[in-house]
Amino acid sequence: MELESPLNPGSTIGIIGGGQLGRMLAIAARQMDYKTVVLDPDSNCPAGQVADRVIRSDYSDLKASSELAALADVVTYEFENVDADSVSSAEKHKPVRPSSSVLRTTQNRLHEKKALLQAGIPVANFRKVDSLRDLEDAASVLGYPMVLKTATEGYDGKGQSIIDGERDLAISYDQLSARNVDLIVEQFVSFKAEVSTICARTIDGMTATFDPAENIHRNHILDTSIVPARIDESVTDKARIIATDIAEKLDVIGLIAVEMFVTQENDILVNELAPRPHNSGHYTMDGCDTSQFEQLVRILAGMPITLPKLHSPTVMVNLLGEIWEDTDGNPDWQRALELPGVSLHLYGKSAARVGRKMGHINVVAETVEEALYIAVEARERAWRRA
Ligand code: AMP
Repeated sequence: MELESPLNPGSTIGIIGGGQLGRMLAIAARQMDYKTVVLDPDSNCPAGQVADRVIRSDYSDLKASSELAALADVVTYEFENVDADSVSSAEKHKPVRPSSSVLRTTQNRLHEKKALLQAGIPVANFRKVDSLRDLEDAASVLGYPMVLKTATEGYDGKGQSIIDGERDLAISYDQLSARNVDLIVEQFVSFKAEVSTICARTIDGMTATFDPAENIHRNHILDTSIVPARIDESVTDKARIIATDIAEKLDVIGLIAVEMFVTQENDILVNELAPRPHNSGHYTMDGCDTSQFEQLVRILAGMPITLPKLHSPTVMVNLLGEIWEDTDGNPDWQRALELPGVSLHLYGKSAARVGRKMGHINVVAETVEEALYIAVEARERAWRRA
């Protein structure tokens, strides 16, 4: 279904998924006096703490997604591992943005890669893997190292295995094929940087990109986003063009985050898409005149979007559960916040686990080097290691 006219403040945005992305979206919605209703199995989920209402249910419950659609004027989702059928069922009643067809493409790495190739977007060489034999054949074409990945249900490096040589083939295959989902193997890209760009696209087809972020991962989890990215301007320009092209070709209404590798030759290969706000876009909350969350609220409501501007160099560092574990649940926020330009964002998660995203720090400074130094120092202070 499509919106007939813009939704005025007071209208309700339905969000499937109640994690931190839903929470920050709900906060941005509240700022403009939009209401939110969240569907999540946990009524005390991060988004549930700030939403107007929570429907407590599994993501695949068609009845619950229809109830969400009945209560909301427009529906979105905050992660890709939601059941596409339940999103389609919500779509019968209310506009869902981005559409369930964008979700279906992006929640499966094989579908996603095929769509990118069809759109003429460069990706790392890959093969579908149905058997150990397929994996062996792929090795003879792709060479080592390769990365074996589950086509679905993988995030933050879960469902991935690096294959350095022949001896790893069977081990990696056994490990991932046990999950009973489709597998894909990719050439390992020895990138010089990883960047991501978020493109916003409205129902009228207007597009706007945020400044590309340079991303540093640790243990496959995003650790730091640096903006402006420390790469040639010609490459950031290319990153923006590619993200816009993808938003248009997939007919995205909403946000699409495009994760990319920058090769040693300054070429770009697209790694992954996410049709939602993205961790690497959290810097926009303090570094830009409009955040990724506000931009999405505007699109969902059928309002005009902005051409977002980065007003200062900004660095984001993630705060993972280990900081809580190492400080007996008591990070030193006081010393972290003593530093200039630091903004603390916490997600209200009660249980801290290693690798779990609990919050992030944004640092705005005169230069990117200064922002990076302060961000790392602030996290070390919170961690009681500095
Ligand atoms: P993904 O879940 O595909 O986003 O992968 C998580 C991280 O693993 C990426 O951000 C990269 O740091 C690394 N990675 C994934 N695929 C590849 C690849 N084909 N070549 C090199 N590094 C990769």
